[in-house]
Amino acid sequence: MTRLLIIGPPGSGKGTQAEHIARHFSIPAVSTGEIFRSNVNEATQLGKEAAKYLDDGDFVPDHLTNAMVKDRLLDADAQGGFLLDGYPRTASQVSELDNMLASQGQRIDAVIELLAPDAELEQRMLQRAKEQGRKDDTVDVFRRRLDLYHRETHEVVSVYAGRGMVVSVEGSGDPDEITERAIAAVEKFLTA
Ligand code: ADP
Repeated sequence: MTRLLIIGPPGSGKGTQAEHIARHFSIPAVSTGEIFRSNVNEATQLGKEAAKYLDDGDFVPDHLTNAMVKDRLLDADAQGGFLLDGYPRTASQVSELDNMLASQGQRIDAVIELLAPDAELEQRMLQRAKEQGRKDDTVDVFRRRLDLYHRETHEVVSVYAGRGMVVSVEGSGDPDEITERAIAAVEKFLTA
């Protein structure tokens, strides 16, 4: 049973790494950004409420995000562990996740911090924009997302670092090698 978080700036390849790392540990990768995007595509009530925040690169309000994560983590496939990608993104979401897990007698085992220099991120995002056509992958919206990452999400890493739970992984280079490094680092941390 492994419960992991992955935290990294937009354009760091966090979503792809999350998928690969989760497969290795036989746990589902739960991406809040993906869940929001599929709700927007399917025009659900949540999608309608979340769309403008995604389009502007802003955080979706906590009451929507927290409820969505709480529901998702109660699904049967998440009972044997999970890798959360994109949540928590603020200190208040950290407390919310702590409470959600504590009510189930659970806790996070490790937090993967994916490091990548800012200079590379915009280039990667522009490449992804061509490949995937994500609506929020424009230079202006991307800068907003990166700015929010630095202002808000950095604190999330600090909170978990204070708990001695952060495994930092260099996120530049060949994606498969990054996956290998991340898996090795997490396994070492979990068995230490
Ligand atoms: P990235 O990390 O590249 O910005 P994500 O796919 O993780 O992309 O998130 C896309 C968007 O989904 C965010 O810009 C935000 O609007 C919304 N979102 C995802 N996770 C959260 C969260 N934990 N809290 C609030 N909004 C979120």
